Amino acid sequence: MAKIESFTLDHTKVKAPYVRLITEEVGENKDVISNFDLRLVQPNENAIPTAGLHTIEHLLAGLLRDQLTGVIDCSPFGCRTGFHLITWGEHSTVEVAQALKNALYEIATDITWEDVQGTDIYSCGNYRDHSLFSAKEWAGKILEEGISSDPFIRKVI
Ligand code: ZN
Repeated sequence: MAKIESFTLDHTKVKAPYVRLITEEVGENKDVISNFDLRLVQPNENAIPTAGLHTIEHLLAGLLRDQLTGVIDCSPFGCRTGFHLITWGEHSTVEVAQALKNALYEIATDITWEDVQGTDIYSCGNYRDHSLFSAKEWAGKILEEGISSDPFIRKVI
């Protein structure tokens, strides 16, 4: 079976919250696609409950696109400790961490339920499983801890 970089990462050595560049892939036409690990909580110590994680996902979809060029996708890890962010082109982890910080700040402060896109039976695959309350609680906790631009050494931006 194909070996996956993320499964070779020693999850006991990382210090969340952080942004980590997983890979930069170059296509046939020299286009670059970047894959980032947005780790919001410490692996094997915590996990964001599904309703809060789901609402954070719906909000990051818009809030990250407002700030970063070339966003393709931002999807939660099955372990519920963070997200993959896939983008066209190259971005520094500092730039991504700053965008994530701004997005989480919006979620923790100004965002209301009316701002959350795609929360009805037509636009979401599990529309009952959302919690803006939980999203705000977790966003606030992550911001208090600070987001590092390095997974192993705390370089809080
Ligand atoms: Zn959904």
